[in-house]
Amino acid sequence: MQQTVMTLAEFLQAPITEERPWVVFAACRDADPDLFFPGSKADEAAAKALCAICPVRLECHQYSLDARETFGVWGGLNEKQRRMQLRRSA
Ligand code: SF4
Repeated sequence: MQQTVMTLAEFLQAPITEERPWVVFAACRDADPDLFFPGSKADEAAAKALCAICPVRLECHQYSLDARETFGVWGGLNEKQRRMQLRRSA
Protein backbone atom coordinates (compact mmCIF):
# COMPACT_ATOMS: atom_id res chain seq x y z
CA MET A 1 0.00 0.00 0.00
CA GLN A 2 1.38 3.39 -0.95
CA GLN A 3 1.61 5.97 1.83
CA THR A 4 0.35 9.45 1.06
CA VAL A 5 2.16 12.37 2.62
CA MET A 6 -0.17 14.97 4.12
CA THR A 7 0.87 18.23 5.64
CA LEU A 8 -0.49 19.16 9.04
CA ALA A 9 -2.69 21.84 7.46
CA GLU A 10 -4.15 19.32 5.01
CA PHE A 11 -4.59 16.84 7.80
CA LEU A 12 -6.48 19.32 9.98
CA GLN A 13 -8.69 20.46 7.11
CA ALA A 14 -9.46 17.00 5.72
CA PRO A 15 -12.89 15.59 6.57
CA ILE A 16 -12.95 14.23 10.09
CA THR A 17 -13.24 10.48 10.10
CA GLU A 18 -14.14 8.00 12.80
CA GLU A 19 -10.44 7.13 13.05
CA ARG A 20 -9.42 10.63 14.07
CA PRO A 21 -12.27 12.47 15.80
CA TRP A 22 -9.67 14.06 18.10
CA VAL A 23 -8.67 16.50 15.37
CA VAL A 24 -11.48 18.88 16.35
CA PHE A 25 -9.68 19.46 19.67
CA ALA A 26 -6.25 20.13 18.16
CA ALA A 27 -4.63 23.20 19.68
CA CYS A 28 -3.04 23.97 16.31
CA ARG A 29 -6.25 24.15 14.30
CA ASP A 30 -5.94 27.93 13.91
CA ALA A 31 -2.16 28.15 14.13
CA ASP A 32 0.17 28.91 11.25
CA PRO A 33 0.92 25.46 9.72
CA ASP A 34 4.41 26.66 8.77
CA LEU A 35 5.30 26.62 12.48
CA PHE A 36 4.92 22.85 12.42
CA PHE A 37 7.32 22.47 9.51
CA PRO A 38 9.86 24.76 11.08
CA GLY A 39 12.70 26.47 9.34
CA SER A 40 14.25 27.57 12.61
CA LYS A 41 14.68 26.38 16.17
CA ALA A 42 12.45 29.27 17.31
CA ASP A 43 9.59 28.05 15.10
CA GLU A 44 10.08 24.50 16.32
CA ALA A 45 10.01 25.68 19.93
CA ALA A 46 6.78 27.61 19.28
CA ALA A 47 5.18 24.54 17.71
CA LYS A 48 6.27 22.32 20.57
CA ALA A 49 4.95 24.84 23.11
CA LEU A 50 1.53 24.58 21.47
CA CYS A 51 1.75 20.78 21.48
CA ALA A 52 2.61 20.88 25.19
CA ILE A 53 -0.80 22.34 26.01
CA CYS A 54 -2.74 20.43 23.36
CA PRO A 55 -5.45 18.20 24.81
CA VAL A 56 -4.97 15.62 22.05
CA ARG A 57 -1.19 15.44 22.07
CA LEU A 58 -1.10 11.71 22.81
CA GLU A 59 -3.55 10.90 20.01
CA CYS A 60 -1.61 13.09 17.60
CA HIS A 61 1.67 11.54 18.62
CA GLN A 62 0.33 8.01 18.13
CA TYR A 63 -1.15 8.96 14.78
CA SER A 64 2.20 10.35 13.61
CA LEU A 65 3.98 7.13 14.57
CA ASP A 66 1.34 4.89 12.99
CA ALA A 67 1.32 6.97 9.80
CA ARG A 68 5.12 7.24 9.77
CA GLU A 69 4.85 11.00 9.31
CA THR A 70 8.16 11.97 7.79
CA PHE A 71 8.18 15.72 8.25
CA GLY A 72 7.26 18.29 10.84
CA VAL A 73 6.30 18.52 14.49
CA TRP A 74 3.49 16.18 15.48
CA GLY A 75 2.51 15.43 19.06
CA GLY A 76 5.38 17.51 20.37
CA LEU A 77 8.15 15.63 18.56
CA ASN A 78 10.08 16.52 15.44
CA GLU A 79 10.87 14.00 12.71
CA LYS A 80 14.26 13.07 14.16
CA GLN A 81 12.74 12.41 17.59
CA ARG A 82 10.01 10.23 16.03
CA ARG A 83 12.56 8.23 14.05
CA MET A 84 14.55 7.63 17.24
CA GLN A 85 11.42 6.54 19.09
CA LEU A 86 10.42 4.14 16.31
CA ARG A 87 13.94 2.68 16.25
CA ARG A 88 13.91 2.17 20.03
CA SER A 89 10.52 0.43 19.92
CA ALA A 90 11.46 -1.83 16.97
S1 SF4 B 1 -0.11 17.78 19.48
FE1 SF4 B 1 0.69 19.53 18.36
S2 SF4 B 1 0.63 18.96 16.18
FE2 SF4 B 1 -0.67 17.52 17.32
S3 SF4 B 1 -2.73 18.33 17.20
FE3 SF4 B 1 -1.84 19.11 19.09
S4 SF4 B 1 -0.90 21.07 18.61
FE4 SF4 B 1 -1.31 20.01 16.67
